[in-house]
Amino acid sequence: MTDLHRLSIRELSEGLAGAKFSSRELTEHYLKRIAKLDTQVKSYVTVTAEQALAQADAADAAIKAGTATALTGVPIAHKDIFCTQGIKTTAGSKMLDNFISPYDATVVAKGKAAGLVTLGKVNMDEFAMGSTSENSFYGATANPWNLGHVPGGSSGGSAAAVAADLAPFATGTDTGGSIRQPASFCGLTGLKPSYGRVSRFGMIAYASSLDQGGPMARSAEDCAYLMNVMAGHDAKDSTSVEKDVDDYVANLNGTAIQGLRIGIPKQYFNVAGLDADVKARVEESLKKLEEMGATLVEIDLNMTEAYVPTYYLIAPAEASSNLSRYDGVRYGYRAENPVDLMDLYKRSRSEGFGAEVQRRILIGTYALSAGYYDAYYVKAQKVRRLIQQDFLKTFESVDVIAAPAAPTTAYKIGANLSPVEMYLGDIYTIAVNLAGLPAINAPVGFDKDNLPVGLQLIGNYWSESQLLSVVHQYQQATDWHTKRAAIAEENA
Ligand code: GLN
Repeated sequence: MTDLHRLSIRELSEGLAGAKFSSRELTEHYLKRIAKLDTQVKSYVTVTAEQALAQADAADAAIKAGTATALTGVPIAHKDIFCTQGIKTTAGSKMLDNFISPYDATVVAKGKAAGLVTLGKVNMDEFAMGSTSENSFYGATANPWNLGHVPGGSSGGSAAAVAADLAPFATGTDTGGSIRQPASFCGLTGLKPSYGRVSRFGMIAYASSLDQGGPMARSAEDCAYLMNVMAGHDAKDSTSVEKDVDDYVANLNGTAIQGLRIGIPKQYFNVAGLDADVKARVEESLKKLEEMGATLVEIDLNMTEAYVPTYYLIAPAEASSNLSRYDGVRYGYRAENPVDLMDLYKRSRSEGFGAEVQRRILIGTYALSAGYYDAYYVKAQKVRRLIQQDFLKTFESVDVIAAPAAPTTAYKIGANLSPVEMYLGDIYTIAVNLAGLPAINAPVGFDKDNLPVGLQLIGNYWSESQLLSVVHQYQQATDWHTKRAAIAEENA
């Protein structure tokens, strides 16, 4: 079969179970595509061909023995932020260029237990800080829709790999939009779960009160399959919630849109940098949802102006604390020939971290320093609470909130936006993390340059099944999620 990469996760699952093809054939097919096409996309940092084929053979044996799960033998790419035992985990940083974790992240371990086959580790902005994946020590990844553009970030490698059909689905993480924005830039469906739904154990920390892993795939149904693997309580993560998980696949239904009250925040659609094509496509998708039975309700989210300053205090503050462990002593990059301990610390950190990471460490350390702590960090925490309350009040009168995932489509590689311009691009995604809410991106069309546009739907706590169902029903009635970039159409 030459078109195995066209199959949905459900079709892969059924095809494997029905012995239409083996996991080895499927895995070899994807490895061949990666070898041929990833020289252009550059989505993988590490390809684990040998392990993948061994896992595929074990999966085929499990299928024959009748011990398979729905996903046994299905390949996956992991964001290079999830620790993988025996396989390099870099977080896109020179600091971890030689780091081999002694254990698997819970998400990776659960994937293995479900029989998933790891194709490799995919590129990302260094320590998940960024919106283009250009902040990676390993260089930029290309957007499959136009190789001169970025795939978004920080989970840009995950998005590009799936959009170029170099993996059927991928894990991502979202601290301030890093699942939703690259999904939007690459025409994919991506779900950022409620804080605490997916274990953070073994997921390299950026800002621990905001970080959350989630699925990136071509459709809501594909995401639901991966959520069934990723979600759940984990004793190894004290912030993971002890709450039953849904069966996200079984819960998908065709009636989620009827009677759904969708809040349209006035403030979101008046943002200065909102691109006209993005606005138009999002509005068209909302019209479609209305035709399908939803009610559109204009709402106010009065804290919108506070999102960027609040996030860009809290996230760097937590980052400065989390990244203090990279000192050149315990593990990670170590500078050569230090003259004394101070020199070792200083040079290991200035040589091992890239510019954006250093900028965030400086901002965060400043915000946490004695004398500024109350004025910046404590104040930001108070505003964070107000932002959360603003959402919760809104959910008394609407079921979900609609927004673009990003004000623009994918930037050109090397556009070299100033840090502040870049941060302003996160306006639609970061408040969701500050509040700990779930949100999903769905592809809803293209701009004049044929770059994908995404609609974001924000839900109340633990409404992942509802968000997936709404997008699933939308995707049954539309075909944006079935569109493929030209490079994905190429055969290996
Ligand atoms: N772009 C945002 C940042 O740079 C979000 C990143 C993320 O979600 N990891 O912090």
